[in-house]
Amino acid sequence: IAKQTGGDRSMIFTQSIQEQIERRKLIQQSLLQAVEDQEFELYYQPKIGGLSRRVCGYEALVRWNHPTLGMLSPVEFIPIAEESGAILPLGDWIFENACRYAKSLNDIGLIDLPVAINVSAIQLSDPSWLDRLMLTIDKVQLPPHLIELELTESQLLTDIENSTDIINYIRSRGIKVALDDFGTGYSSLSYLRNLPLDTLKIDRSFVSHLQEDQENYDLAIIKAVTTLAKQLGMALVAEGVEQATQERILRDIGCDQLQGYLYSKPIPAEEFLELCLKGLIHKQQE
Ligand code: C2E
Ligand code: MG
Ligand code: MG
Ligand code: MG
Repeated sequence: IAKQTGGDRSMIFTQSIQEQIERRKLIQQSLLQAVEDQEFELYYQPKIGGLSRRVCGYEALVRWNHPTLGMLSPVEFIPIAEESGAILPLGDWIFENACRYAKSLNDIGLIDLPVAINVSAIQLSDPSWLDRLMLTIDKVQLPPHLIELELTESQLLTDIENSTDIINYIRSRGIKVALDDFGTGYSSLSYLRNLPLDTLKIDRSFVSHLQEDQENYDLAIIKAVTTLAKQLGMALVAEGVEQATQERILRDIGCDQLQGYLYSKPIPAEEFLELCLKGLIHKQQE
């Protein structure tokens, strides 16, 4: 019996590796066509003002409605798109569509809600990416201050000089730049001094265990990062706020913006519009 079980197990194991390889291959092969066929969709997740307690911006998060595999997470397909280069046309599609959406919200009077758009390192290192970006902004006629690009530490640090030049240029055109997942990369404080950033987004891993308890290191870290951001003249966003306790602590500390399932998961465009029109957010404390 033992032998048989072992045999079965190893077969299941082999199959699942095989399946993973097949799945990856399928994803890779269908990525480019999927951009053409408009199989991607942008979901939007609100950011809530720490003081105002209202929607003060939102992040575009891409989803792939795959014809046979179903709804795919960016965690699965973005790395494959980066490896294959498909992130360039996909990233262009994401940027243009997020801008068009932001423009439509702005046009119906939901003004001053910036859209945050995630950008991959591959896009940053493409020499013609910036030109396409600026052309799209002109075409869509979205005021550039309503755009915030979210970059991650590891992306910026692969080529710090190129990153600094690009960020300087982007900001000279009025577009904002945020550092995403702050604290998870090879966080070095020295580059914060040199990188001209508008916003720090502290990673949700620091938020998820927040407690009022004095011994809590995450609390100490978030307090320190809040002070740091203030001193450097940057806004601070906390990701992954799921519980009212976390919200209360973050507000007390003076965190500028809050984002997380407590307020809303990322939702389709029409739903997000409704949420904005309702003025906001059901689950407020107090
Ligand atoms: P990210 O930019 O750090 O986005 C935050 C992720 O955390 C999103 O996952 C969001 O749905 C999730 N999240 C938000 N609030 C909570 C919460 O309270 N609890 C928990 N557990 N999760 C929360 P998502 O949409 O699956 O995206 C994952 C990552 O994929 C993003 O991380 C980003 O790195 C990448 N990504 C998503 N959309 C794009 C895109 O359009 N372009 C690029 N290049 N990358 C993207
Ligand atoms: Mg992000
Ligand atoms: Mg993030
Ligand atoms: Mg993250």
